[in-house]
This record gives sequence, C-alpha cells and structure tokens, in this order.
Amino acid sequence: MSDGNGAVPILQVENLKKYYPVRGGVMGRKIGDVRAVDGVSFSVREGETMGLVGESGCGKSTLARALLRLEDPTDGTVLFEGNDIATASKQDLFQLRRDLQIIFQDPYSSLNPRMTVGEIVREPLLVHGVGSKEEQVRKVRDLLETVGLSGDVIERYPHEFSGGQRQRVGIARALALEPKLVVADEPVSALDVSVQSQVLNLMMRLQKERGLTYIFVSHDLSVVEHVSDTLAIMYLGRIVEHGPVDAIYGRPAHPYTRALLEAVPVPDPKQRRVSVPLEGEAPSPVSPPAGCPFHPRCPFAIEACKAAVPALEPVGAKVVDGQAEHFAACIRQGEI
Ligand code: ADP
Ligand code: MG
Repeated sequence: MSDGNGAVPILQVENLKKYYPVRGGVMGRKIGDVRAVDGVSFSVREGETMGLVGESGCGKSTLARALLRLEDPTDGTVLFEGNDIATASKQDLFQLRRDLQIIFQDPYSSLNPRMTVGEIVREPLLVHGVGSKEEQVRKVRDLLETVGLSGDVIERYPHEFSGGQRQRVGIARALALEPKLVVADEPVSALDVSVQSQVLNLMMRLQKERGLTYIFVSHDLSVVEHVSDTLAIMYLGRIVEHGPVDAIYGRPAHPYTRALLEAVPVPDPKQRRVSVPLEGEAPSPVSPPAGCPFHPRCPFAIEACKAAVPALEPVGAKVVDGQAEHFAACIRQGEI
C-alpha cells in the first residue's frame, strides 16, 4: 500500500470492450454478442494495487486477458506507460510483454505438467533471450527462493506440489522478467483458506520489494480489501463504482457495492447500512437489461433507471490534484 497521491498512472484504460460472437441456427450465423467487457475505463498508479471485484461471470477474467492482449479487444485503448497495448504491433507487444505479467487462478491447470519447475520458471527468460544458461539457472534458483521454495525443487514436477506451492511457482514465473505490472486473476481463490493469507502476504512483500503495480482480481471483496489501494466494482461488463478502498468501504455509493459489502462483516453494528440483499443471478451479458444493468435486482430502482446506462459520476466532494477520486454509476447516488 502507498498513499499514491500524485503518482503517475502506469496504466490508463479507455472504453475497453470485448465482445464474443453468439452463433446460432444451422448456418452458424452470428446472432448476437456476449458483451463480456462493455466500455471499461480506469487508471492505476505506479506501485499501487487496484482490486477488481464482481460476481462470477461479470467479465473480470475477460478484462484481465484483454488488458494484456492475451485476446484482442473489440474496442478501446490500454495505455501502459503511454504505449497502446490494444493496437501494438507483434514486435512492440513482445517487448511490452516483459513488463506485463499474469498470475492465473488455477495453479493446477496453469503450469505445464510435463515441464519441471525449473523449466517452467526459466521459460520466459529463454523466450526473451535474457542472460546465459548459467545466469538463467541462477536466476531461477533465486526466484524460487524469493517465493519461499528451496532452489533445489527445480528438477521436480508440478504434481509433486500442493496448491499453495504451485501458486508460488506461478508467481516466480511471473516475476522472471522483472515486470512492472502484474495482473493476478483470482490468485488465491483455488487455495485452502489457510494458505490464502500466506500467498497474499508473499504478494504484498514482493510488491514492496520490487515496486510492482498490481491488478488484483477477486469475486470476494473481503480478499481484496487488505491488499488494495483502490477498488473497481464490476457488474455485467461495466465498472459501476471506482475509488479508494477507504472511500468505498466508508461510503459505498452504488447499491451493488452495498450488496457486496453486506456479505463482509462490519465490526460495529451501528455502522450497518440499509440492507441491499443480492437476489437471483446477474442477467446474461448476451441480452443485458436496458438502462442500468443492475436495475432488475436493485431495491432502489425507479423508472428512470431503465432509460439509460448511467455514467460514472463523482461521489462526494473530495478531490486530489483537482480530480475526483471516487466515482459511481447510479443516478440515485446521494439519495439512497
Ligand atoms: P469472470 O471472470 O468475472 O467470472 P468472465 O470474464 O470469465 O467472467 O466471463 C464474462 C462473460 O463472458 C461470461 O458470460 C462468459 O460466459 C463469457 N465468455 C468468457 N469467455 C468467452 C469466450 N471465449 N467465448 C464466449 N463467451 C465467453
Ligand atoms: Mg474469472
């Protein structure tokens, strides 16, 4: 965590979209789109962690992949230190990739079972031609020790390790090229609760030591609370609230955020807010509801909520460097 005020954004995302075609009929014609990410904008400052939170299926992993151009976005820009990842050429992307890494949710399927741990961690160094063979092997041992594994494990295979240890291997691999930005897609969701905090602590320590910027994806608000500086709350392909963690916890402005917070215990019962139960499932991103995507589940919805998608508007009066910090996309924010 850093106070971050005044730090420059390392990543600036504008109106990012990722649609998947829906095909139907005997001809397999395109009959619609899955709007997995539907016009997302945010920025992350260097050295900070942005938590990206929302229910399963809201588009978090698609956004993570589109940010790193593991899939081509449908529209929008992703400026990393001023370079647009979304439209970069293959060669430029190859260079940019050194600075941008991802840690996946499932440490079982994300590590190649036929490669040794040493080969897995070394692969990015080989691909990018970093150092001699001896230097690479030394670096791999260092990395494994950095993540809390003995350097002696290089000859072993992923199946010989527990989930937490495998995730440590995934982290070591992600760090091999000394990236600046790491997108961690639910990095602890597949782990036992008892090892979750160990891996979280490791990630926090590495951030401090290496000045890393993180985008930390989770479906669970309580997991990201302690690691994040800012939060982006995602619903049906859009960000519905964005701002500093304290502001969002202290004064959640979007009913959906309030519903997510209901599930997180509040120590002081007097601090409890009007309850927003989260009922049913999120609608399909193939045919999202008109207007505010949350209105069918929202206890505060009025007719006007069905009319237009609300824009992210500043919440409250707090400004830093002449800019508002906390935004919510709800026409009723302030009244509810
Ligand atoms: P999350 O990570 O928040 O659970 P995802 O990004 O995985 O959400 O998925 C968002 C939406 O996009 C879901 O409706 C999902 O079914 C759809 N989706 C994801 N990947 C694809 C794909 N390759 N083709 C079609 N639809 C997809
Ligand atoms: Mg996901």
